[in-house]
This record gives sequence, C-alpha cells and structure tokens, in this order.
Amino acid sequence: MPNAVNRVDVVIIGGGIAGVTAASHLAPHCQVALLERESQLAHHTTGRSAAIFLENYGGPVNRRLSIGSRAFLESHADGLADVPLLNPEGMLDVGGPEAVAELTELATAGAALVPSIRLVDEPEILELAPAIRPGVVVAGVWEPDAATLDVMALHQAFVRGARNNGATIVRDATVRSLSRSHGVWTVESDAGHWEAPIVVNAAGAWGDVVGKMARARPLGLEPRRRTAFTVQTDFDTESWPFVNHSLEPRRCYFKPEAGGQLLCSPADETLSEPCDARPEEIDVARAIDAVNELTILDIRSVKTAWAGLRTFAPDRDPVLGWDDQVDGFCWMVGQGGTGIQTAPASGEVVSAIVRGEPLPRMLRDLDLTETDLAPRRPR
Ligand SMILES: Cc1cc2nc3c(=O)[nH]c(=O)nc-3n(C[C@H](O)[C@H](O)[C@H](O)COP(=O)(O)OP(=O)(O)OC[C@H]3O[C@@H](n4cnc5c(N)ncnc54)[C@H](O)[C@@H]3O)c2cc1C
Repeated sequence: MPNAVNRVDVVIIGGGIAGVTAASHLAPHCQVALLERESQLAHHTTGRSAAIFLENYGGPVNRRLSIGSRAFLESHADGLADVPLLNPEGMLDVGGPEAVAELTELATAGAALVPSIRLVDEPEILELAPAIRPGVVVAGVWEPDAATLDVMALHQAFVRGARNNGATIVRDATVRSLSRSHGVWTVESDAGHWEAPIVVNAAGAWGDVVGKMARARPLGLEPRRRTAFTVQTDFDTESWPFVNHSLEPRRCYFKPEAGGQLLCSPADETLSEPCDARPEEIDVARAIDAVNELTILDIRSVKTAWAGLRTFAPDRDPVLGWDDQVDGFCWMVGQGGTGIQTAPASGEVVSAIVRGEPLPRMLRDLDLTETDLAPRRPR
C-alpha cells in the first residue's frame, strides 16, 4: 500500500519492548499504528537480553520504574500472558576486599526501597552460589526477590494487548522521513504514508536518528554493545542465583539456564553506532577468563554467543516524555540495561503523558515525576 494514506492518533516507531508496551497501553484510548523496520518484532536489543528482573539495579529512576512494574509482571500482564512472566531466582552481587565499601552502599540503597535486600559474607555466598571459588570474594549483596523474566511472553502479551484494542502493527515498515504541518505528522515508511498528530519515538539505538528526522535536538544517546553467551556445565545449576561481579579483572555475570547451562557475559559496554550488533571473540574470551577466576566451573567452550545494544542517555536514566521544542513528538528511549524489566511502568508513563494525564499513582507514590523522565531534565 505504498501510496495509501493511513490516519491514526498515534504512530509509534519501533517494535521492541518499548514500542509494544506503549502500543498496548495507548490502544484502549486511541487509534495506534506501530511501525517496525524488521520483518520480525523484537529482532534487536529486546530479543537479546539476559532476561533478569532486579529492583536494586541502575539509578533511582530505573529502580522506581522496576518496582512499579512488578505487580503487572506478577499479574501475568493483567491476564494477557498465558505463562508466569517472573520466575524467582535470587541475585548475588559479589566482590573482593576492594569492593566492600561499594557493596555496603549498594545494600543500604537497595534495602531502603526493597527491605529484603541485605549484605552477606563469604560463607553465606558459598552456600547460596556453590560455584564460587573459595577465597575469591569476601562480601556480597543478596537480592532474594530477583527473578528471571520471560521476555518473549511479555513482548507477546503487549502485542496481544495492542491488537485486542485495535492497534495496527506493521513490519518491514522502515520509517524514512517525518514532517509536520498544521499539527499533523506525515510519516513516510516502506509500508506507506501515515498521518497522526503524535509520534512516539521507540527506536532504541536509532532514537537520535529518528529524532533527527523530526528535527528534534539530539539527546546524545549512546548505544553500547553488550555480549552474552551460553555454556554447558556438568553441574545442576537450577537452584543457583544470578551472580554479578562488577570490578575488573573479574568483571562478569552468569545466570543459570535450563539443563545445566549458564548464560554468561563480560558485562561489556563498548560504544557503537546503531547497528545489528555482533559478538566479538575477545569479549567472549574475557568473560570466560573472568568466570573461571571467580568460580570452579572451568569453562572451555561456548554454545551460542550474541550481542545487543544497550542505549543510554548521558545521565543513564530513561527518557520518556515530550520533546521541549518539537510539538507532538514523544521520546521513549535510553532504557539502557533495564528496558525489559521497566517496560510495564514505562508503557503506562508514556500512555499517561500522551493523553495529558498525570503519572500513574503507584509511580507518584514512589516520588517519580515527569521532570525525572523528561528529555531536557536538569542534569
Ligand atoms: C546482552 C543484553 C542483556 C540485557 N539484559 C537485560 C535484562 O536482564 N533486563 C532488562 O530489563 N534489560 C536487559 N537488557 C536491555 C534491554 O534488552 C533493552 O533495554 C530493551 O530491549 C530496549 O528495548 P527497545 O524497544 O528500546 O529497543 P529495541 O528492542 O532495539 O527496539 C527498537 C526497534 O526500533 C526499530 N527501528 C529503529 N529505527 C526504525 C525506523 N526508522 N523505522 C522503523 N523501525 C525502526 C528497530 O528495528 C528495533 O526493532 C539487555 C540488553 C542486552 C543487549
């Protein structure tokens, strides 16, 4: 339909978790079209995550959005998901003597928002995570209510929520240009021309590229590559927690997967252009060394490796809100390493902002304001 003009209330650009949560939360209120460049939704960062839900991770804004998302995730996405979205799996942040001060601070900040978070010593760490090599770590932060997320089920739940309420989702629909006249955007895409008074930019690593099409000032978004891979072990990993070590030279994390496998990562953050990210052998090798130093696992080979772009605003908080200079242009970018776990609350926020409503009560009670999320917030 290249020459047809399709009129809706909101065009959302991007079919990752951000775009579909916005579509699902907006569709009950207005006509929505979501345009995705790839022939498959969630092809980029959303399809490449480690699938972890942590409340003690990121800055204060991310923590509040994560906490504000838990009830929705526990409710099977308000009944839209057929399977549980959260599967309990504790989280241990560990370190040697040089990390004790940082870990103590992390435990204190975490416990202020989530009282079950606490500092643990080496004997308890070895009990919780028997793979850790004795004598390597001295302290850890234990987050017992951390969980594994079913990312694809969550993404599908949002797609269902959007479609059930009449949203149109179009793939192979690269957006090529945006222009605005008399309060209406014309969105030219490979799947035709769309008109809408409002555009939501949920383009992930391409957020500033899409912003430029709208003539918005760039936010300075930084896509950063993160590598992950799976390995087979001889251990029964099922009851192990997710383990993170944030300081070099043992910077890495690992997380149990079904059948004795582990998902590992060097926790890398290499600056990148927006692209279809691929893993670099050197990053995988670094992670294997780090995991082998930290544990008794003796990893030698990798099953599958991949990489994705975690995209950050300069202050590393997500950007959810109206551009201050371009009318009808709403940013939904900069989700960094928490875009899946914060998606339910972020979708509610964008829906409220687009409809001119106050932020959801639950987030206001957590002291989150529109200014905290706005593109030009004080930094
Ligand atoms: C290795 C790794 C581990 C991670 N672990 C976790 C985790 O445990 N927990 C967590 O919460 N988060 C995690 N993340 C982060 C999380 O995956 C991201 O924050 C989230 O997926 C971002 O979603 P998004 O929708 O913004 O981006 P994307 O999924 O990248 O979606 C953006 C979409 O926009 C489309 N697009 C761009 N330009 C255009 C255009 N011009 N026209 C049409 N479409 C366009 C792209 O094709 C893309 O599909 C991890 C990320 C990585 C890489």
